[in-house]
Amino acid sequence: MAAAVPSIESAAVGAAAEVLRFLSGPPKQLLIDGKWVNAKSGATFETINPANEEVLALVAEGDKADIDDAVAAARRAFETGRWQSMGPHQRARYLLKIADLIESHGEELAQLITLDNGKPIAESISEVGRTVDTFRYYAGWATKFYGETNPSAPALFNYTLREPVGVCGQIIPWNGPLSTISWKIAPALAFGNTVVLKPAEQTPLPAIRVGELICEAGLPDGVVNIVTGFGPTAGGALAAHPNVDKVAFTGSTEVGKLILQASAGNLKRVSLELGGKSPNVIFPDAPLEAAVAMSATGVFRNQGQVCCAATRMFVQERIYDEFADRIAAKANEIKLGAPLDRTTTMGPLVSSEQHERVLGYLKLARDEGAYAKAGGERGPQPKGYFVKPTIYTQVHNAMRIAREEIFGPVAVLIPFKDENDAVFQGNDTIYGLGAGVWTRDLSRAHKVARALRAGSVWINCYGLIDPISPFGGYKQSGFGRELGPQSIDLYTQIKSVYVKL
Ligand code: ADP
Repeated sequence: MAAAVPSIESAAVGAAAEVLRFLSGPPKQLLIDGKWVNAKSGATFETINPANEEVLALVAEGDKADIDDAVAAARRAFETGRWQSMGPHQRARYLLKIADLIESHGEELAQLITLDNGKPIAESISEVGRTVDTFRYYAGWATKFYGETNPSAPALFNYTLREPVGVCGQIIPWNGPLSTISWKIAPALAFGNTVVLKPAEQTPLPAIRVGELICEAGLPDGVVNIVTGFGPTAGGALAAHPNVDKVAFTGSTEVGKLILQASAGNLKRVSLELGGKSPNVIFPDAPLEAAVAMSATGVFRNQGQVCCAATRMFVQERIYDEFADRIAAKANEIKLGAPLDRTTTMGPLVSSEQHERVLGYLKLARDEGAYAKAGGERGPQPKGYFVKPTIYTQVHNAMRIAREEIFGPVAVLIPFKDENDAVFQGNDTIYGLGAGVWTRDLSRAHKVARALRAGSVWINCYGLIDPISPFGGYKQSGFGRELGPQSIDLYTQIKSVYVKL
């Protein structure tokens, strides 16, 4: 373990003064019961800038003992009613305050996302905006989760109450290290729950800074606790904890299955937002220029590390060659480089593990006989986890590169004959998170949108996510719907009350 962080200026080259200030100093701590504390074991881990492989900061490595403390604090905050009983208007005000603080520290948070995760700064700025929107959206819901009155017998009055679930364990990934905080914390808090958040070990910094802003907003102690650390230890302890009422997880399908098993001990409520291998279907009558541009964004945004990325592009035979030429040209226009540089349009992958994994798939693609029409190799940078944006042709849907989630800037182009063939091949996957349909034929667009088995379908666009609408998976992409009013179901439970008249 490094005793001190090397030069922050070199690790975070180009960052603003307030970001450098945040990164300097002693190791980052855990937020438990309103206080910043070291891990009980005293252990720390390094968080790395994936663009230059240098250490950005040391971070407390929480494990089961720290999760126990955080859960106890969240339990006290819940049982004393210091959050729930303050009432919906006051909770809404706190959520709005958090949104305002995130907005006013937007540039700083965007730089932290980019430094820790590697995505280009423009994408991080947009992530900050979506995070603010989501906090404000759920601030609105705090005052609008109604119960019902029910038509019971004449001498009875029956009504329902929506009540919080309790202590929520929330485990988030590294690809949206700020936005996923809002997807989890905002609805949980709006409906009166308390939270223990476990950020991904690759990107703990945005969560720690948000923790500071939450303290600044003045939330009561223990309502939000943040324990940084590794998946199997801190994450595993949270998922298995007998005093946690609900676990919300975003991450890989493989870990989602472990979470589900771990949650069985006390029958926690579980919601899982997992992997994908999303079909994006392009018909010959598609608005081709837009289809090429948005499909490229749909697969290359965030270096392709997006669970609903448009990784399997099904292109009708007649336009296959033209589409392949055009999207390969788009891929070649992408400027790979230092992500804090505002002219960069693709940064590095998040970590060396992820880099190795994606490079392994590029080798597999060659072994399986696919043709790299663009990319197909690591970036030319001497340092950092860069991979060139990659388009494969000569692919069929049975190849492993067409079936397994690569989680990198890699798309496969697969030809189809007609509508039925497109739907059949599109649905021939264990996943069901997103899907795209490109056509000017209105009835075909809606028919195919219905037939594709995915939680979100985009017609003549791709990958748009707005807090007003639910997001989640079919099949092994998970269950439960986040965002939209559907989060009410995740973070409340219903009580039925009978009154004898
Ligand atoms: P990825 O494969 O994209 O890194 P993971 O599913 O491994 O995604 O990680 C997503 C989140 O789940 C991270 O916060 C990680 O620490 C956590 N995690 C990983 N393994 C476990 C586990 N066994 N139990 C609980 N959480 C875990």
